[in-house]
Amino acid sequence: MRLKDKVALITGAGSGIGRESALLFAKEGAKVVVADVSENGGEETVALIKKNDGDAAFIQANVANPAEVKAMVGFAEKTFGKLNVLFNNAGIFHDQDDSVTTTEESVWDFVMNINLKGVYLGCQYGIPALLRAGGGSIINTASFVAIMGAAAPQIAYTASKGGVLAMTREIAVEFARKNIRANALCPGPVETPLLAKLLSDPARRQRRLVHIPIGRFARATEIANAALFLASDESSYVTGSTFIVDGGITSAYITPE
Ligand code: NAD
Repeated sequence: MRLKDKVALITGAGSGIGRESALLFAKEGAKVVVADVSENGGEETVALIKKNDGDAAFIQANVANPAEVKAMVGFAEKTFGKLNVLFNNAGIFHDQDDSVTTTEESVWDFVMNINLKGVYLGCQYGIPALLRAGGGSIINTASFVAIMGAAAPQIAYTASKGGVLAMTREIAVEFARKNIRANALCPGPVETPLLAKLLSDPARRQRRLVHIPIGRFARATEIANAALFLASDESSYVTGSTFIVDGGITSAYITPE
């Protein structure tokens, strides 16, 4: 088992990539703290893990709220005795996030608070816990849009993910000699509830599909597999990386017909 004896905390584990990662981490022997703002989603993930004889516990936490993030990390240490893996996965995509010239400041603030400040808070409270455990692995979810611009804009989302990528590099460098690794996971478009509305529009779906050399969107399990590698000791020499799992999008100039 690739995560035997490890305690992993995953934010946004009530759906999509976070849920698939929680299920996979538990299958690989980790004790999993499922954190989510959604009680239903989080409890359902825990129930799925327990059904497979895994070990998990749910805590409701909004990653944009410092007191709740502090309590979330405390809960992990209290429940399972330590913290080895911190997966800052929670993130949102806002319907009204569009061009820089039209996106409302309230939308910008809302997205930034969850996607960027949420990761900062996770690291602020999570890193001391990782240090208490003798080190560990941080996975921060950015996106391929942290690296590439799109003419179909989503300015706050893109800026937030660029921030996550830059912040993760700096954290990796600062804590490298303290046995903490930090990597930015950069998925391409994944079929999860986050993009469900956007991808249900055939024109918007096709507009994105033509840029993916592999010719399809990712499955959440494919991103979870990458997270598992980054969480495990198999990636012991990988830190500060921009870990791209995008079906070839960022390598393509023209994709096959
Ligand atoms: P999802 O919508 O399926 O799941 C996100 C989960 O986060 C939900 O359970 C939600 O309740 C939770 N959440 C939302 N706001 C929260 C908050 N303030 N505090 C705690 N939990 C909160 O989304 P997903 O597609 O699985 O996305 C997971 C991560 O991957 C996000 O950071 C997203 O930006 C990123 N990502 C997704 C895609 C994609 O195409 N789906 C691509 C690149 C990156």
